[in-house]
Amino acid sequence: MADSFDVIVIGSGPGGYVCAIRAAQLGLKTACVERRATLGGTCLNIGCIPSKALLQSTENFEEATHHFADHGILIEGVKLDLAKMQARKADVVSANVKGVEFLFKKNKVAWLKGSGRITAPGRVDVDGTEYEAKHIVIATGSESIALPGVEVDEKAIVTSTGGLELDRVPGHLVVIGGGYIGLELGSVWKRLGAEVTVVEFLDRLVPGMDAEVARTFERVLGKQGMKFRLGTKVTGAARDGGKVRLTLEPAKGGAAETLEADVVLVAIGRRAYTEGLGLEGIGVGLDERGRVEVDAHYATNVPGIYAIGDVIAGPMLAHKAEEEGVALAERLAGQAGHVNYDVIPGVVYTWPEVASIGATEDQLKQQGVVYAVGKFPFTANGRARAMGSTDGFVKILADTATDRVLGAHIIGPDAGTLIAELATAMEFGASSEDVARTCHAHPSLSEAVKEAALAVEGRAIHI
Ligand SMILES: Cc1cc2nc3c(=O)[nH]c(=O)nc-3n(C[C@H](O)[C@H](O)[C@H](O)COP(=O)(O)OP(=O)(O)OC[C@H]3O[C@@H](n4cnc5c(N)ncnc54)[C@H](O)[C@@H]3O)c2cc1C
Repeated sequence: MADSFDVIVIGSGPGGYVCAIRAAQLGLKTACVERRATLGGTCLNIGCIPSKALLQSTENFEEATHHFADHGILIEGVKLDLAKMQARKADVVSANVKGVEFLFKKNKVAWLKGSGRITAPGRVDVDGTEYEAKHIVIATGSESIALPGVEVDEKAIVTSTGGLELDRVPGHLVVIGGGYIGLELGSVWKRLGAEVTVVEFLDRLVPGMDAEVARTFERVLGKQGMKFRLGTKVTGAARDGGKVRLTLEPAKGGAAETLEADVVLVAIGRRAYTEGLGLEGIGVGLDERGRVEVDAHYATNVPGIYAIGDVIAGPMLAHKAEEEGVALAERLAGQAGHVNYDVIPGVVYTWPEVASIGATEDQLKQQGVVYAVGKFPFTANGRARAMGSTDGFVKILADTATDRVLGAHIIGPDAGTLIAELATAMEFGASSEDVARTCHAHPSLSEAVKEAALAVEGRAIHI
């Protein structure tokens, strides 16, 4: 036996590395197994961070090419240096992954480099060396779901990983899937000059988010030039010279047609990743979608083995994984960790951004909850006008009987930052009146949140 630990976490994504750091902070001897050359998992290496780096760069490019002139700033001959943009993205990723390595050293978390396999309860093999642990945490994350008939080569037909690495702007990018990953990457390449068509099986974008927000989002992205083929399925792909010919059919059935693309991005979702962990051998239960089954305290059916993050049920989001990592570490240290699943924000980092928390109107209707709606458009917000970014609105849903905030949905500038106030409000069980009576700085985008809260009782001032 090479060494023994209180906790061995397998996977160093936001679930795993946060769990490991918190466990070490609480005095547990902790190791984290990661086989990638760098720490940070999908999120830091091929997910949240590189996509946000490219979104920022391309937003700057879009501003310089199309919007600076509105401000009286005239620049001629703006040029794209894609190689430099990609190199900057790599630097951003590198700084973040090194940051996690630093935090591991600071907190004395051992990084066991290699692939982890659970050989028995309390035992983890890492590339031939066996370690002992009182507690084993599975945090192996997720991978892109493949689409039958559309074979990924990460060059002409890519997942998000290849979609972040393109070395030239495609003439026509077809994105399969109208969720947040497809729309973010679609925006990146659209801003750099690609024609972008999004093909989505459902008749709406961002499934699970508020329907009114989704309709506005489609209209705003449409205004930016993105094209949509909703209610449409892709049934096959054939390579033809340098092109990809996709076969499309109406989702409800009907005549097939073809759509030609230079690059196809398959972004139809992600699924739990458990390959090579040896779970069958030790009898850890999976659900019908291949996710590790856990109880309310992240324990699997095998004593001493736990799971968190994308590999278990729930929204596949970095901050959800982090919260679970902290809650589990605290429980393993004898404390009372807990995650409030009713208050997990979801953000799409396009421009405008889309952010959502708590219940949607459709969910409240299904639950038979009587609710009031307060809505305020960014066209009536002074700061949004000064920014020249007035698309969208803030919508707050409050229980009619108690006025408690049950959900909030924002499409507009910096929606992903604005939603944090409503997350805090909901975590504290605030009423819409609590938000409405809170003084918000002027002129700020956050005044739109206050006005939406005032609008719940029909007393917004600025509309
Ligand atoms: C393009 C893209 C953009 C995204 N943007 C956002 C965003 O803006 N906001 C957001 O909240 N979420 C975003 N996500 C989702 C986010 O990345 C995931 O929800 C998050 O990374 C899940 O964290 P995790 O710790 O569960 O697993 P992961 O981050 O997937 O990490 C799992 C790690 O485990 C390692 N591993 C797996 N098996 C083994 C093994 N047997 N031995 C050793 N190591 C192993 C893997 O190498 C990997 O590093 C994005 C995802 C993608 C793909």
